[in-house]
Amino acid sequence: SNVLIGGGTGFIGSRLCTVLRNKGYGITVVSRMPGPQRISWSDLHAKGLPKDTTAVVNLAGQNVMDFKRRWTPGFKQNVFNSRINTTICLAKVIEEAEKKPSVFVSMSGVGAYKPDSQKEYTEDSECEEFDFFSGLCKNWEQANNLSPKTQSCCRTVVIRSGVVLGREGGMIKQLYLPFYLGLGGPVGSGSQYMPWIHIDDLTSLIVYAIENKEVKGVLNGVAPRPCTNKDFSKAFAKALRRPAVIPLPSFVLNLLLNKERAVMITEGQKVLPKKTQAVGFNYKYPDIESACKAIVTEK
Ligand code: NDP
Repeated sequence: SNVLIGGGTGFIGSRLCTVLRNKGYGITVVSRMPGPQRISWSDLHAKGLPKDTTAVVNLAGQNVMDFKRRWTPGFKQNVFNSRINTTICLAKVIEEAEKKPSVFVSMSGVGAYKPDSQKEYTEDSECEEFDFFSGLCKNWEQANNLSPKTQSCCRTVVIRSGVVLGREGGMIKQLYLPFYLGLGGPVGSGSQYMPWIHIDDLTSLIVYAIENKEVKGVLNGVAPRPCTNKDFSKAFAKALRRPAVIPLPSFVLNLLLNKERAVMITEGQKVLPKKTQAVGFNYKYPDIESACKAIVTEK
C-alpha cells in the first residue's frame, strides 16, 4: 500500500512517515522542497495522483505559531491558502484518478468550536463561523469535498486536532526552554481549557483512519481527559521537575502575537473525542501527566 502525504516533511508529517514506513507502507511526500520520494505541488497538479496510491493524507500548512512572522493580512492569507489550496489540490487529483485511493484524511482544528468555559463539545456540536480560525476550519473541512460517485469508493476523514504535544515541534518546542529554566507557568488565569493530543496518538489515529473502513467524517483529535492550561503547565513542569509558578499575562501575548492569533492560547474549549472513541480508537496517552512524562523522558 502507498500513502501520499501533503506536508509530510513537518512535525506531524515526518512522525507519520516513520510510523507508516515501519508498518511496511510506501510513502510519497508532497513538498515545496525537492528530495527523494518527494513530488512538488505543481507536479502533483499537472501529473495527477502517483500510480497505486491507496491513501492520501494532508498535513500541509504554514505554521500559525511562527512567532517570527507578524500577523499581517499577507501572512493570514498564507496560513489560509497553504491549508485550503493544498487540500483542494489533493481532492482534485483524487477526483481525476482512474484508480481511486480508498481514503482521504485531512486536518482541521478545535478552533472550529467557540471558546467557552462551560460547554462540552463533541463531533455532533454545531460549528458556526465567529472568528478567523473558525472560518479557516470551516473552509478547510469543506476543501476535501469529493463527488458522490468518488465518495462511494473513497472515504473522507477530517481530524479536528487539539494542540499536538511532542518533543520535536509545535507548542512543546516553544515552551521547552522557558519551562526547563523554571520560568514556565499558566497563561492568564490558566482556567481556560486546552484541548491536546500526544503526537503518537495523533499519528496512530491517522493510521487507524487509513486502516479501518468504518471510520468516516469528522473525528475530534483530542485526548479523552480534557485539561486546562494550568493543568498542562503543572504536568509539564512536574515532568521536568521544575516549578511552574510564573504566570504569563494574556495581555502580553495579545501584544506580542496579535489578539486574533493569541486566542488559541488565551482562550479554550472543552472538547471530547466522542466519535473517535465510538469507532474504537484507543489512546496510549489519555491523561496529560502520562503524556508530559513520555515527552520529557523520550530519547
Ligand atoms: P508544520 O509547521 O510542521 O508544517 C507542515 C508542513 O506544511 C511543512 O513541513 C511544509 O512542508 C508545509 N508548509 C508550510 N508552509 C506552507 C505553505 N505556505 N504552503 C504549502 N505548504 C506549506 O505543521 P505540523 O506538522 O505541526 O501540522 C500539520 C498540520 O496539522 C497543519 O495544517 C496544522 O495546522 C495542523 N494542526 C497542527 C497542530 C499542532 O499542534 N501542531 C494542531 C492542530 C492542527 P514543505 O516545507 O515540505 O513544503
